[in-house]
Amino acid sequence: MTTDEWLSAGESRSASDPESESEAEAESGAGVPSLWSISDAVADRLADAEGLLVCLDFDGTLAPIVPRPEEAAIPAATRKRIRALNALDGVQVAVVSGRALTDVRERVGLDGLVYAGNHGLELERGGDLTVHPLASASRPALRRACRAIHARLGTIPGCRVEDKGVTATVHYRDAADAAVPAIEEVVSTVAGAESLRVTDGKAVFEIRPRIPWGKGRIVSLLAAEVGGGWLPIYVGDDTSDEDAFGVLADGVGIGVVVGSPSATAAAARLDDPDDVATFVGWLTARWADRPVEVIDAEGKRP
Ligand SMILES: [Mg+2]
Repeated sequence: MTTDEWLSAGESRSASDPESESEAEAESGAGVPSLWSISDAVADRLADAEGLLVCLDFDGTLAPIVPRPEEAAIPAATRKRIRALNALDGVQVAVVSGRALTDVRERVGLDGLVYAGNHGLELERGGDLTVHPLASASRPALRRACRAIHARLGTIPGCRVEDKGVTATVHYRDAADAAVPAIEEVVSTVAGAESLRVTDGKAVFEIRPRIPWGKGRIVSLLAAEVGGGWLPIYVGDDTSDEDAFGVLADGVGIGVVVGSPSATAAAARLDDPDDVATFVGWLTARWADRPVEVIDAEGKRP
């Protein structure tokens, strides 16, 4: 993707405030139906679609959350199901993660998928990897911020800074609860001084360039590329995924949240990564069984 294409894609949404992206019409998570309770309606959407764009988050969605993020792995059976789904005509699977692109691609380990890393600031399709040009420009600021945070928080047990190139993650899953406010204070002060922004997730603070870009933008971009007749589906479990659910709300696509969040803009929910794997298998079977209109050489239906 060229610099102009990145920048024009960024203009396709009206929100110019980078902070606004994750505030899409979140509703109480308690009212979100199980995907399986609305599977007939989802099957109807599949039957009407010309193609299927299936976007999947990684941690907590494909791979179970583990105490050490570096040990997160996708179960072999899930990988097999994604491969089978992506092999079908009219289907494109994309993995959209907050991890660095090279990291998530290695963990998924499948060719032929679209990979979006660093919350969509990095994109790889068909072996062509590009980075959002404004994010590239903020790498030095991000590196300085990582060094400053490490210098101030490196002695807190269970707190770790991960520099992912164009974004950074401060992990605190193993830190004492009492230490978290101090961690947040340091992260927000240092990031603010470098004109970077901070978002939160499950036991992490994410430090990102202050540009209007997130998982919703990359899903919009991918959906626009495949065409209006395709049905976009997004499955994710965390705060940064709400941005994508917001983009797919109001029937544009189907947002599926994993777990039981207190508030979400998703249309349906799945229990856990095992349930996601079941859903991937269900999509594959449904799409493969779609009635295909057969027309003979003379243009007649046999
Ligand atoms: Mg996740």
